[in-house]
Amino acid sequence: MKRNFYDLTKENLQEMIKPSFRAIQLFSWVYQKYSLDFNEMTNLSKNDRAEFDKIFSLNLPELANKEISSDGSIKYLFKLKDGYTIETVLLPMKNEVVDESGEIVKHARYTVCISTQVGCKMGCAFCYTAKGGFKRDLTPGEIVTQVLYIKKELNLPPERRVNIVFMGMGEPLDNLENLATSIKIFGDVDGLSISPRRQTISTSGLATKIEKLAKLNLNVLLAISLHAVDDELRDKLMPVNKAYNIASIIEAIKKFPIDSRKRVMFEYLMIKDLNDDLKSAKKLIKLMHGIKAKINLIYFNPHEGSEFQRPLRENVEEFKEYLNRAGLICTIRESKGLDISAACGQLKERSLKNAT
Ligand code: SF4
Repeated sequence: MKRNFYDLTKENLQEMIKPSFRAIQLFSWVYQKYSLDFNEMTNLSKNDRAEFDKIFSLNLPELANKEISSDGSIKYLFKLKDGYTIETVLLPMKNEVVDESGEIVKHARYTVCISTQVGCKMGCAFCYTAKGGFKRDLTPGEIVTQVLYIKKELNLPPERRVNIVFMGMGEPLDNLENLATSIKIFGDVDGLSISPRRQTISTSGLATKIEKLAKLNLNVLLAISLHAVDDELRDKLMPVNKAYNIASIIEAIKKFPIDSRKRVMFEYLMIKDLNDDLKSAKKLIKLMHGIKAKINLIYFNPHEGSEFQRPLRENVEEFKEYLNRAGLICTIRESKGLDISAACGQLKERSLKNAT
C-alpha cells in the first residue's frame, strides 16, 4: 500500500529515500510548488519519479462544502478518505494595502484555524462539535493538508506565510503524537516553512499533556480555553475540568517554556449572565498572577438549540476595561464568520441538513 506523503516529515523521507537531498526536492515540489503529480517533478530522473509514484500517494482532501462570510472568512468542510468530514476556517487578519499606483505594499495576512480530530471527546457544553461525539484522530497528513489545500487554492506564493491555530474540531493535545509531527512538517524550511512561533495550540487544558508538550520543546505558542474562573462553573461548561481543574492547568502553564517575547493566551468565552460579571473579572486577575498572559474575550455565538446567550456588548467592554486597568493585556475577539456558521461543527451540521 502507498504511504501518504503528507504524513511524513522530511527526516522520515530521508530515511526512506537516498540520496537525502531528494527529500528536500520532494518537499519543495509538494509544499512550495503545490504539485500533486510526481511526473511533473522535472528535476528528478524518470526512474525516481516512477518509483516515488509507486510508493507515495499525494491526495488532498476533497472539498465537501465551502461558505464565504461577508467579513472575508471562509469555512471549508473537507471530506476525508473514510467519508468523515472536518472543518477548516481561513481568517483574513489584515487586508492588502496598495499604493496610489495600485501596487501592493503590504500583503494580506491570514490565519488558518485547523482541526486535529474528527469530533471531540471533551464534551464542552457550549460546543457544537461536542454534540457529535468523538470519531477518530486525524493523521499528520490530514492535519497538514488543510493548510496546503488553502494555500494552493488561493495560489499563495510559497514564501507568503500564514499563521496556524489548532482550534478547529477536536482537542489537539488528545492527539499529541500526530500533532507534534504535523508541527514539524509545517515548520520545515524546505516546505511550508511556518515557524512554530506562528503555530498556536489551543487546548481545553489537559494539564499532563501540557507538561508532555513542554518536554517536546517544539517552541509553539499555547492558548488555553479557560472560560470560567471557578471549578464549579468550569465543571459544567467543560467536563474535562473534573480531571484537570483550574489549579492544575495554572501549575502546568507556569512551567511551560514561553518565548520571552510571547505570552500564553487565555481564551475566555463570554456567556450572558454566567461569567461576564466583574466578580469573575476580579477572580481572573488573581488567577493570572505570575503568568505572562494575554486574555482574549470571545463573544459566545448562539447556535441552534444552544442554552446559552450572547453577552451584551457593554458587559464585555466593561470586563475588558477592568482587566486592562489591573495591567492585564486583554483583547476582544470579534466573531468572524457570524453570518456563516461560527462555532465549530456548525458548517457540518448545515451541509448535512442541506443534503437531506
Ligand atoms: S470546544 Fe474544543 S475541546 Fe471543547 S468539545 Fe468543542 S472541540 Fe472539543
